[in-house]
Amino acid sequence: MRETQMKAIVVSKPGAKAQLMDVAMPTAGAGEIVVSMMGCGICGTDHHIVEEGLPTAKYPIIPGHEPWGKVFALGTGVTNVAVGDVVAIDPSLHCGMCDQCRQAKGNLCKNWGAIGGSHPGAWAEYFVAPAKNAYSLKDFPLDIASLIEPVACAVRGLDRLNPHQGKSVLIVGGGTMGLLLAILLDINGCQPLTVVEANAKRRDISKKLTGLTIISPEEAKSARADYVIDATGIPSVIEDAITRVNAGGTFMVFGVASEHAKVSFSPYAIYKDEIQITSSMAILHSFGPAIDLMRVHGDRFRPLLTHTFALNEFEKALAVLSSGEAIKVALKP
Ligand SMILES: [Zn+2]
Ligand SMILES: [Zn+2]
Repeated sequence: MRETQMKAIVVSKPGAKAQLMDVAMPTAGAGEIVVSMMGCGICGTDHHIVEEGLPTAKYPIIPGHEPWGKVFALGTGVTNVAVGDVVAIDPSLHCGMCDQCRQAKGNLCKNWGAIGGSHPGAWAEYFVAPAKNAYSLKDFPLDIASLIEPVACAVRGLDRLNPHQGKSVLIVGGGTMGLLLAILLDINGCQPLTVVEANAKRRDISKKLTGLTIISPEEAKSARADYVIDATGIPSVIEDAITRVNAGGTFMVFGVASEHAKVSFSPYAIYKDEIQITSSMAILHSFGPAIDLMRVHGDRFRPLLTHTFALNEFEKALAVLSSGEAIKVALKP
């Protein structure tokens, strides 16, 4: 007989303690699959979902939007995957019918949602996803599969930035996303490339793991670059970073600021130096490319996944993340 219950991490409301509990086993509707989770990253967005609540999240919620696993059951009409296939899941849920979706800009969908945000996520033994969101991981190095979703977000960032080789880069914020952007820009031939990270512990670990140039805010006092990317979402940091773009360069808002945050900047300086300001939101047409890229450059990304914990050790996982001793932390069943 099939199980009717599974273990999942549930957050009942913003600020409530996340708890491992038994919940009903999900079933696949038409065009959907049930996936047996094999790995799922923990990211900054999850921290927002657990701590202060996200506008797009629906509570109670099972977080987890960076999943991969084995296809366990198929809903009607699913033909692109088979039971037993190992797949990574793009968590983005687009309605397919609004103006933005019709222009193939699903990340700007008016009804945008995500597995692990608006819908139950993958910090669970099983989760449901649209079959069209599944990407085959045949012959993929599975030890780095929990990094696919964040790499897909970073690839979207590069699509938006459209970087040219030989241009200089300053990335402010050396968390997982800042480091992933740095690695991608390095692969793309942007140099010199500098990451600024305020946390000394994280700076030292990241330097060792990636070989990138990672400096403190004090050391970065006079740093400027053609491309300056904020990967912190902190208003005061953004206000400073936007003044560091070389004439003719681009500033990118990548880190997620709080919904009500405001910054001030000099429109005159933006005008005089023809500074472009751009941004990147989640994933768009970048999930497949991220997988392809990681097949080739897996060794560059592998060191970032520093810790993996079982579902029932998730409290330890969250603690290690906030200690600054980890870069990317993932859960497994
Ligand atoms: Zn994430
Ligand atoms: Zn839409």
